[in-house]
Amino acid sequence: MEKQCENRSICAKCKGLCCKSSSCTFSPLDFSDLTFEGLKAEIQQKGYIDVRKTKEGKFYLCVKERKRWPYCSLISKNGCMLKYENRPREGRMLIPVKDVIVFIQIWKVKIPIIIQNGKCISKYPFEKALQDWAEYSLTLEKLYNFFNERSA
Ligand code: SF4
Repeated sequence: MEKQCENRSICAKCKGLCCKSSSCTFSPLDFSDLTFEGLKAEIQQKGYIDVRKTKEGKFYLCVKERKRWPYCSLISKNGCMLKYENRPREGRMLIPVKDVIVFIQIWKVKIPIIIQNGKCISKYPFEKALQDWAEYSLTLEKLYNFFNERSA
């Protein structure tokens, strides 16, 4: 497994702003069985995985989102409901960034301004996830149709 990026003290301070803004994306490496039946069973069993399609018609898997803030369906007042090793790759690879203090000078006085977290960057960006899922697009399209027809 990759090097652990988690830093609970930084995340506790900003209370998971990134998780509240959106959910995170899975990598194909997060699943042991990438067949239609294997993924379908895992999605049905876990209940929090969503099959998504971009405007450009690319498919990927991510954690389900709520319709309103806080958006990720797995964020709680105690942080992520998943253990670190069970989170999607994007979440595991997120590097928490400490608050940054910048100074602005007004007349002769330097005033400190704290720029809070929210600039955390994942070492597994969304574009990379889309690339990784590309070879499974036929399977994901089938899953997308299967779950959308059931919910229609
Ligand atoms: S699954 Fe966990 S780590 Fe990922 S966005 Fe949701 S709360 Fe955050």
